[in-house]
Amino acid sequence: MKLLENKVSLVTGGSRGIGRSICLALASEGSHVAVNYASHDAQANEVCAMLRDKGVKAFAYRANIANDDENHRMVEQIHKDLGPVSILVNNAGITRDRTFVKMTYEMWKEVLDVDLTGPAMVTHEVLKDMIDNGWGRVVFMTSIVGQTGNFGQSNYAVAKGGLIALTRTLAREVARKGITVNAVAPGFIETDMTAEVPPQVLDKVREATPVGRLGKPDEIADAVRFLCSPGAAYITGEVINVNGGMYMG
Ligand code: NAP
Repeated sequence: MKLLENKVSLVTGGSRGIGRSICLALASEGSHVAVNYASHDAQANEVCAMLRDKGVKAFAYRANIANDDENHRMVEQIHKDLGPVSILVNNAGITRDRTFVKMTYEMWKEVLDVDLTGPAMVTHEVLKDMIDNGWGRVVFMTSIVGQTGNFGQSNYAVAKGGLIALTRTLAREVARKGITVNAVAPGFIETDMTAEVPPQVLDKVREATPVGRLGKPDEIADAVRFLCSPGAAYITGEVINVNGGMYMG
């Protein structure tokens, strides 16, 4: 018997990067997976094929998590296809970097909508089913940037810091219902998101990281897999740092 046999997981931003690794990790434990994504149909379908090869059910759901109607329709459809969601990994996120002085209202709002309000509202959509079932796992993907701040990322830092506050609040509200709520805070991980960071900045990141390298998506997925497992039932409201020692909170 695998750890998450026949559970239903929803992973937002599951088509690429860290989200893709999380989908694969949860499927390896026997969970069926709903793969949410914003626009890359081919990549999302590719992930679903990889998940089915592991013997679980998997469907792709194109929905902008910043749009409440799209979230509602997505969760309704998942319910029809797979049943109620019992594991939610709020992984989707974006960056729109600029120093605060030069940042536009649109850049600020877009990041807050996708990186903070989106995860909160997707959670809102699935929480009632978790409460009714008396079991659930919610994981928010925050960031080292939400803990330390970062030059040029005020919008992103505020969103990711907000997720930590939400994690701790929600964890208290649903702890007696068999639901844990935790966050994972990656350092700098090799994905499309960090491919946009200038090479000289990444060199500085390596220098500032005790482990001496960027992280890999699978190293984040392993932390998520553990938090979603039955053995993590007594861990809630926690932020797990997976950052090569760059920040030790
Ligand atoms: P990524 O490679 O850029 O992938 C982003 C994923 O999110 C894609 O699947 C994308 O879908 C999806 N997405 C973006 N906007 C969306 C929206 N509005 N609605 C639904 N899905 C949306 O990102 P990543 O590097 O794997 O990062 C994943 C998470 O980890 C993010 O929350 C990020 O902030 C966090 N994180 C990353 C790092 C890092 O170093 N990479 C460090 C700390 C935290 P499409 O494929 O359709 O575009």
